[in-house]
Amino acid sequence: MRSLTLSLALSLIAWTSAHAKTTEDMIERARGIHQRVITIDTHVDIPPNFATPAYDLMKPGPSRQQVHLPTMIEGGLDATFIIVFVGQGPRTEAGYAKALSDAFVKFAAIHRVTSDMYPDQIELARTADDVRRIDAAGKKVALIGIENGYPMGKDLRLLDQFYDYGARYFGLIHAGHNDLGDSSMPDRRSREPVEEHSGLTDLGRQVVRRLNELGIMVDVSHASKQTSLDIIAESKAPVIASHSSLEGVYDHPRNMSDEELLAIKASNGVVQVVAFDNYLRAVPQAKQDAIAALWKDIGVESMSDFRTMAREELEVYRERMAKLELEFPKAGVKDLVDHIDYAVEKVGIEHVGIASDFNGGGGIDGWSDASETFNVTLELVRRGYSEEQISKLWGDNLLRVMEDVEDYAHGKKG
Ligand SMILES: [Zn+2]
Repeated sequence: MRSLTLSLALSLIAWTSAHAKTTEDMIERARGIHQRVITIDTHVDIPPNFATPAYDLMKPGPSRQQVHLPTMIEGGLDATFIIVFVGQGPRTEAGYAKALSDAFVKFAAIHRVTSDMYPDQIELARTADDVRRIDAAGKKVALIGIENGYPMGKDLRLLDQFYDYGARYFGLIHAGHNDLGDSSMPDRRSREPVEEHSGLTDLGRQVVRRLNELGIMVDVSHASKQTSLDIIAESKAPVIASHSSLEGVYDHPRNMSDEELLAIKASNGVVQVVAFDNYLRAVPQAKQDAIAALWKDIGVESMSDFRTMAREELEVYRERMAKLELEFPKAGVKDLVDHIDYAVEKVGIEHVGIASDFNGGGGIDGWSDASETFNVTLELVRRGYSEEQISKLWGDNLLRVMEDVEDYAHGKKG
C-alpha cells in the first residue's frame, strides 16, 4: 500500500513538472511570436488634453490613461491607431464648427507627439509601407483614425484635409444618428427613434466614395446594421469594423451580425474584435444595477451628459466607477478570444483583427492597458493558433486592407 501511494506521488510529481515544462515552453514560444509579429491596435482614444503635461505619452502618471510609450514597449504593442473622436452634438452650423475645432485639437496633439515631443520614439505612418518601415526601425507607430463624421458637417472638402493630416480610417457615425446615417445606438436623451434615415444617407454615400478616392479606410463600427450594410455595398474598396465584437457570441447593438461579418469578408475587409467588457458578454445584473444607481445619483441620463459635466464632477464619477469596477470583475482575455474564434470560424483568419478601445471604455481583465498586450498572444498560442495566423490577426490583415485601399485610390485596382 505504501509503495502504491509512493508511486502515485512520484508519477504526480513527474506529471506536474512535465506540465510546468509545457507551460513554460508555450510561454517562451508565445513570447517569440509576439516579438516577431507586428501588433496593431486599431482603436485608442485620446482626451483633448493629449500631449500636454496632463497626458504625456512618455510618463504614465496618476491619470488612468491606458496607453503610453513605456507601456507599449513593456507589452510589445507596436502600432496604434490614435483616434480623432468628437461626440455627436447638434447638427447646426455652430455645432459643426465646434466639432471641427475639437477634431483639429486632437489632430494637432497627435502631430505634436510624433513631430515635436518624441520623434525618436514614435512616428506617424501614412501608408502600410510606413508601418513596416517604422516598426523595422525600432520605433512605435502612430496612425490616425477618425471616429464620427460629425466634424465634417456637410462639407465633403474637409475629407481631403483630414487625409492630409494623416487620417487613414473614417468611422461615419458614433452614438446618435447624424447626417451620414443611422447609429447602432440612438441618443436616448433626445428620444431619437431607432432609425432616422433607414440606413446610409445620400451625403453618406458621397462620403464613402470620396474616402475610396482618397485612400482612407471606411469603418462601420457604431453604424446601425442597415447603415453598415449600405456602407459596405457602396464602398469599392475593402471595409473595416475598427472596434466591434460579434453578435453571434453576444447580442449587443455594437456587435457585428453574421450578415455584416460576411459582407465585410466579401469586401475583403477585416473586423477588429474589441476588448470591451460590455460587448464581450452580458454584464452581471448586479453590476448593471450598481451603475444605474450611480448614474441616478450623479444625475446622468445618457452618455451625452458626460460631455457637459464639470471636470471635478467627472473626476468624482471616475473614482466611484473605478471602485465599482473592482467590485465586479470584467470580461477576460478568454472572452475576447472566444469572439476571435467565432469570427475566424465564420469568415476565416484573413478577415479578423484586434482592437482595445483603450481610453474609450475598453480594457478587460488581463488586457487592461498596453503593458498587458502579450496576454492576448499567449491565449491565441494556447488555443493552437500558428505564428502565421497570429501575425495575420495582429496586423497583416489590417495592412493588407490598408494596401488595397491605397491601391484603389491610386487607380491600381477596382
Ligand atoms: Zn467607439
